[in-house]
Amino acid sequence: AASLSASFRSASRPTKPLKVIIAGAGLAGLSTAKYLADAGHKPILLEARDVLGGKTPTSGLPLYNFEVGAYPNVQNLFGELGINDRLQWKEHSMIFAMPNKPGEFSRFDFPEVLPAPLNGIWAILKNNEMLTWPEKVKFAIGLLPAMLGGQPYVEAQDGLSVKDWMRKQGVPDRVTEEVFIAMSKALNFINPDELSMQCILIALNRFLQEKHGSKMAFLDGNPPERLCMPIVNHIESLGGEVRLNSRIKKIELNEDGTVKSFLLNNGNTIEGDAYVVATPVDIFKLLLPEDWREISYFKKLEKLVGVPVINPFTKDLLSFKIYPFGMSSKEIPIFTLKWKLNTFGGKSYLLIRMQKSWSRDIIATTLGPLPIDSQANCFIEYYNPNQSMLELVFAPAEEWIACSDSEIIDATMKELAKLFPDEISADQSKAKVVKYHIVKTPSGMSWLENTWLGMASPYIHIEMHQRGFYLAGDYTKQKYLASMEGAVLSGKLCAQSIVQDYELLRTLGQRKLTGASIH
Ligand code: FAD
Repeated sequence: AASLSASFRSASRPTKPLKVIIAGAGLAGLSTAKYLADAGHKPILLEARDVLGGKTPTSGLPLYNFEVGAYPNVQNLFGELGINDRLQWKEHSMIFAMPNKPGEFSRFDFPEVLPAPLNGIWAILKNNEMLTWPEKVKFAIGLLPAMLGGQPYVEAQDGLSVKDWMRKQGVPDRVTEEVFIAMSKALNFINPDELSMQCILIALNRFLQEKHGSKMAFLDGNPPERLCMPIVNHIESLGGEVRLNSRIKKIELNEDGTVKSFLLNNGNTIEGDAYVVATPVDIFKLLLPEDWREISYFKKLEKLVGVPVINPFTKDLLSFKIYPFGMSSKEIPIFTLKWKLNTFGGKSYLLIRMQKSWSRDIIATTLGPLPIDSQANCFIEYYNPNQSMLELVFAPAEEWIACSDSEIIDATMKELAKLFPDEISADQSKAKVVKYHIVKTPSGMSWLENTWLGMASPYIHIEMHQRGFYLAGDYTKQKYLASMEGAVLSGKLCAQSIVQDYELLRTLGQRKLTGASIH
């Protein structure tokens, strides 16, 4: 990650910088612009909304944990921007709620002294609450082909759901229920019978191969300010531009199929030497010019829509935040990130993923086995000694997306009351919700699609580069699936292609000027 970053700074300065128009200021677009600016080019980043960061901020409040332990490009970016101190590391544990034992939690602790994969194996062996020894042995035997078969084996599992794969390997259903419902939902917000096993194996590999693969950190405040603004300042200090409220409506083409300009919603057009779309994949599908729909790798996009089992889930993620809880006589526990296996109203598909929260240090003692958290590990920005804030993800949410906010809050309180019966009751007679905000992201999980198609996101072939067109985004092919790391890496790879295509893009510009066609 560091050497790829350095390659932009050390690249020979272009005689005439390329003007690169980028649509979408999520992490992928920001990263593309940052690294292009580092290489001496002039990115113009156009964001449809009035807020930076795309899926990362969700309405300007911090929603996200960063699984940064194994995120080399994200960590490198923080270092480059001089903001490493904004990452608040959590202790290296995974904590599962146990639906059959309300208020109790099961931990997987990764010892710092052991290297990977021993730290992970130790964590699994030490946990006897979730899996029995015979189940652990069967699971380990089932995993053997994955350990021995490497990447080709992992990729070959894309057609199988987690549940089917477990059955095929002779792993008891109880293992899926105890561990993989929670893991599937925590990683991808869907159930194990809908999620591709490839996705789980990639994550497990990361956890097993990299010592800090599952270690988490939180950003210390809201992402647009604490992460995106430093990137924007960096881009602008090098002559690039970032414009909010600039929605791309159309990719306009020349007669020879090269990109002519981006047409904005306000009727303006903008021209450059190269064009990048870094919007979510569903938006890109809408923007895709008619003439390009027949191109083979864009045809894959059509197939993505057609994968029936995934389709509903691409549309129905509902995330919400509740903040802050007023304290009544009982205090609210501190929640570190937990992967929760829940049932709600008899529907076992519902997961509330606790993203993060904070409270007073002392409160942790009321929950014995929970890690003693500290203010430093929470959001300093929102610290209030008398209140707590919870941020949750509610998914899969296809049946909930049309519900009113109060129905969602009621469902949440019922769920939370099951998990924390001492502190929370559904009728709010214990902790009270004093303020909440619900954000619905109808296509928040569009990236799930490609997990079913062998990560078949459209490779942007040299043929597209010859048209001056590039893609970035968490759904494009890179090894970190759809994540903040995937988005940052995709932006870097996109910037790298553009830098490498300098001569090609210059020639393209010349041809455009002389009216010669491109084939
Ligand atoms: P986006 O963030 O979607 O950015 C695309 C940008 O394009 C947006 O700003 C959008 O407004 C803009 N745009 C759209 N249309 C246009 C247009 N026509 N013109 C101009 N701009 C346009 N990842 C992790 O690593 N850890 C986590 O804990 C985690 N939790 C998550 C929780 C939730 C609820 C969700 C939804 C995702 C989570 N992720 C997590 C995934 C991670 O947030 C995403 O993978 C990543 O932020 C995607 O970045 P992106 O730049 O590819 O896309």
